[in-house]
Amino acid sequence: MLQVQSQCIGESLIARDVVSTSTESGSLRLRNAGALGKNKAVLQKCVSTETSTEPWSSKEPSMPTEPVPYGRKTQKPSPVAEVHILWITAGLGCDGDSVSITAATQPSIEDVLLGAIPGLPKVHLHNPVLAYENGGDFLKYWYLAEQGKLEPFVLVVEGSIPNEKIKKEGYWAGLGTDPHTGQPITTNEWIDRLAPKALAIVCAGTCSSYGGIHAMEGNPTGCMGLADYLGWDWRSKAGLPIVNVPGCPVQPDNFMETLLYLLYQVAGIAPMIPLDDQLRPKWLFGKTVHEGCDRAGYYEQGDFAEDYNSSKCIVRLGCWGPVVNCNVPKRGWMNGMGGCPNVGGICIGCTMPGFPDKFMPFMDEPPGARVSSAAVGVYGRAIRALRSFTIDTVNKEPRWRHSRAELTSGYSPKTY
Ligand code: SF4
Ligand code: SF4
Ligand code: SF4
Repeated sequence: MLQVQSQCIGESLIARDVVSTSTESGSLRLRNAGALGKNKAVLQKCVSTETSTEPWSSKEPSMPTEPVPYGRKTQKPSPVAEVHILWITAGLGCDGDSVSITAATQPSIEDVLLGAIPGLPKVHLHNPVLAYENGGDFLKYWYLAEQGKLEPFVLVVEGSIPNEKIKKEGYWAGLGTDPHTGQPITTNEWIDRLAPKALAIVCAGTCSSYGGIHAMEGNPTGCMGLADYLGWDWRSKAGLPIVNVPGCPVQPDNFMETLLYLLYQVAGIAPMIPLDDQLRPKWLFGKTVHEGCDRAGYYEQGDFAEDYNSSKCIVRLGCWGPVVNCNVPKRGWMNGMGGCPNVGGICIGCTMPGFPDKFMPFMDEPPGARVSSAAVGVYGRAIRALRSFTIDTVNKEPRWRHSRAELTSGYSPKTY
């Protein structure tokens, strides 16, 4: 057997030549050296980095004989073997949160579903935007869950919950058709059926968390967030409150990180998720946009943009960052990049329970901003002037660094 560093093999070997792999040592074990025969150039490169004593030695290297199992065994296996995620997008929404999470990287949806994260149960996702199945093939999981035959499962709700009690006929939103009545099964009906059976419920986005855009003043549906519908004191059968991950759409990693936390709770290896009084994960929504903004230095110096073609603070253009709980400027949007005000977009408070009504009209200067930015403007101008003197000073080298034949550094040895 020949053991070769995997990074020098590249795509030159074919799978049947590989007997086993070790992700810990980064090496492959090959059936025979002939596997490399038609890849002489590769072989030449590899011999210098092989990890066994001789390339053609009959001595067996100490490699695991078991193939690498599902996931990596770096922790004890999850006490729960499998868990399902039922994701209903049939609230009043735009599916934007389902699309958003495809951009997650910490963790990615692929990491969670393909077993790349140690200690997690095997996860099955049932989301209509991302599923391969459709029609009855997709809906069967919902009926199984309703019958208690899909245990355990986490319910994800996307879109706001309409009020089906306020009209005489028809329905606002639904998923699937009731075979007995031939009528749509309303979103509310699904929530009523599944909420008592779910281990946990997570709201993806501001619509399902608090009502969002669809629940603004003048709406005809009377819609609301899930906690308004089920009750703010609602608890799952596992004792968990509703977990809100707001955002319009939800920041991808915020949602996936929260889901991962809950999956660890399902596996029994995480403590109770810490939530604030709006049922948001505390560690994600405990700070304001302003506290994490790249432009906060400009605000502090009273240096404000007059138009969007500027890297200065955009509070006078309508940014609500100082009073909005959101970590997006710190976290970025996709793989650490972006983040509303960091890249020139005013914060419109899309994560907040009062969104959108309390932040409209968008792009007008927030009411408090005029007073606070005027106050900061006076102080900031003075501070900026003083700092410019200091900047001049610290931009110059000390005077004792010269090439003259004298030491002027102030060196003064003492004898005792
Ligand atoms: Fe769409 Fe925003 Fe509602 Fe999500 S929160 S469903 S992105 S409108
Ligand atoms: Fe604060 Fe907005 Fe200015 Fe950033 S752009 S410093 S969040 S007011
Ligand atoms: Fe929404 Fe403001 Fe956060 Fe951007 S920074 S995601 S607009 S709350």
